[in-house]
Parts: sequence; structure tokens; C-alpha cells
Amino acid sequence: MSGGIKLNSNVKKLSENYLFKEMEEKVKVFSSRNPETVLLRLGVGDVSGTLPECIVAAAERALIAQKETETFRGYGPENGYEFCRNAVRDYYKNEMGAEICSSDVFISDGAKSAIDRLLGCFSCDVVIPSPAYPAYYDCAETKGLKIVALERFENDSFVPFPDKLKKKPYLIILCSPDNPTGVAYDKSVLECWTEFAVKSGSVILFDNAYERFIRGGKPHSIYAVKGAEMCAVEIGSLSKSACFTGMRLGWSVIPDGVAGGALKKTYKRIIGCGYNGAPYIIQRAAECALSGEGIAACSAYITACRHNAAVLKKALTECGMTVYGGLHSPYLWLKCPFDLNSEETFDYFLSNCGIVITPGSGFGKGGDGFVRLSALCPSDTAEKASVRIKEVFGVR
Ligand code: PLP
Repeated sequence: MSGGIKLNSNVKKLSENYLFKEMEEKVKVFSSRNPETVLLRLGVGDVSGTLPECIVAAAERALIAQKETETFRGYGPENGYEFCRNAVRDYYKNEMGAEICSSDVFISDGAKSAIDRLLGCFSCDVVIPSPAYPAYYDCAETKGLKIVALERFENDSFVPFPDKLKKKPYLIILCSPDNPTGVAYDKSVLECWTEFAVKSGSVILFDNAYERFIRGGKPHSIYAVKGAEMCAVEIGSLSKSACFTGMRLGWSVIPDGVAGGALKKTYKRIIGCGYNGAPYIIQRAAECALSGEGIAACSAYITACRHNAAVLKKALTECGMTVYGGLHSPYLWLKCPFDLNSEETFDYFLSNCGIVITPGSGFGKGGDGFVRLSALCPSDTAEKASVRIKEVFGVR
């Protein structure tokens, strides 16, 4: 009840997240009835790694500097310190082969809040693939934006295409490597979307939060595509690549050419209104995470997650199941077995294997019929889960 006061009615359009609450409830009930079963959690997309020593040392140095008058830092620039924006620019150049300007980089406390603020810059229809990271839908709803859900299909390997869209300006959200399906788009797919965006006057919001999981020749950045600098904004994050889910550091790249410079101006205005920038200490830690030393130190966790994904995928495949993803991403996208729907598959894995997964329907209508397994877990969890899966489903 809000009494007489009028609250943002767009928030009422959000689903109450019943599915995730229900899942938590089911896990609680299962645990109380089966106290002897050690639950194996492959549900949430949080990391299980810890911060490498060099990143901790960088944060420590920045914290200690706050003790001295000469090195103390108060309010910083809301778009991020120059050293951190330069670190992002150099990371793009050295690791992704993409040229960006540090003046186009906006540092934020993670990718999610940047996505929310960016959506606040638009008042056009938003194209969001289904299934997708749920925050895209929720943030768009709270801004009162009309959502055009673009269903993705197994036949197309979950790759969305613009052919069904009208030739008008949209905000288009794309994520590669994708949460939840694990697919990473080829350059030709990004070229197709870039061409559509340029011709229709649309803007692409490209989320590459999982780019460090890519192997082989797939593009890590949309700026690998010619013309993208005229129509695409890119969102990055250290959450999964450097175990920063608790530290909080992400960025947006907004080139001057996008919307004739109007988007960058609008975004600057929006962050100027309601944001005072990411913490100095975290930006110093991020600078290290984006350096050669930091990347090398973080690679052990990425390798471990890749191994987990391979172990889980092998077990599921050996049991005759159809599973996507896991190659360029820490997520496996499993087709529900036995004609179960995604919530029934969640129940089946929980009650028979003691494994927590995520029903695909939690990622939008296009996710029903699938479930997501996260390989961001500790390695012994993945090993134990693969043994239980093989015992319960049976190797064929
Ligand atoms: N983008 C995608 C696709 C994600 O899956 C997530 C987190 O799970 C985020 C962005 C949010 O990242 P951050 O922790 O930087 O806010």
C-alpha cells in the first residue's frame, strides 16, 4: 500500500520474481528433508574464485593512500579516473584488437547499473532477445519503454536476427557470449546487426560481460565490426573475468558517432544527476585486473571454469541429453529431458541429483524447455555433479 502518494507505476509491470523465490523455497524444503545430501549449486551466476594477490595489493595500496593528505582522494570524476579509462582503452587494444578512445569510456560500479542508466537515455522501443539476462527486461520496464521480445530458436543456434523487425530506430540489446544460452556470435552476425542499426537509425547496446571466456576467432567486441562505432554502445564488466562480483566494476563505451553524439551527451547528463563515480580503491584494483599481470593472474579461474563446463557437458552428453554453450561461456544451456518443462526439470535435478540449476523460463518465454547450469562453481562441485548426473540419468 502506498497511501495517497503516487509511486512509479512502471514498477508494477515487473514480475514479482515468483520463480526465483519459489526455487529458493524448494531448495530450503529439500535441504531440511535431506540433511545428509550436500547440495551442489549450479544455479546462480556468481563466481567462486577469489581475487588474485596482485589485485588485492593494488587495492591495498589505494586504501593506504587515503591515510595521507597528499594522496587522499575525495569525490572523483563521475565517468571514472583517467588511469582507469586508459586501462580499459589499453585492454581493448591489447586483448581485443579494438581501438577505442578513453574519453568514450564511462567507468561504473558494475555493468548492471550502467545498463539501467543507459536505458534511461532512451524513449524508443527496445528489442530484447528472449531468453535474455532478466535485468534487460526489468530495467526497460521501469523506464516505461515498450519491449519488443525477439524469440530465439534452437534451430538458429539461439542467434537472433533482425529480419522480423520494422525498419525504424530501436534500442537493440545484444549479449555475446550470451547469458543464458552460452552462444557467442560470429562476426557475420554482428555485421548483420550493425548494418541493420546503421540503416534503421537504431542503437545497439552490446553486452560483452563474458568476453574473456571466448576461445578462437569470435569477436570479443562489437567494435571489431566496421561501422559499429557509429551505432553501438558496449558494456563490459570485471565481475566474471576477474571475480569482481563483490568489488563492483564495469564500464560503458559510448563513441561520439552514436546518435550523432547525442547519446554520449545524454548519458553524461544522466550520470551527472545521479551518480558520483566508482570508488577510487576499486578503480585502482580494476587497473591492475586489466593489466597484463592481472589478466595472467585471473586466467587460472577462467581455465578452471572452462574445465568445469567441459566436465558437466561431457556428463550430460554421455547421458544422451542435448546441451548448448559451455565453450565460449561459463553457462550450459540444457534442453529439458523427458518432455519436462524447465521448472519440472529444475525439480527433477533437485530431488534426484541434489543439484540446483536455473529454469530457462526465468530468462523469458523463449527460455522454456531449457535450463541453465553455471560452471562458475568450484571444480569439485562440477566433478561431483557430473558423477551424480551419470548415476541418475545413466550413461548411454
Ligand atoms: N550482463 C550480463 C549478461 C550478466 O549475466 C551480468 C551478471 O550476471 C551482468 C551484465 C551484470 O554484471 P555486473 O556484476 O558487472 O553488474
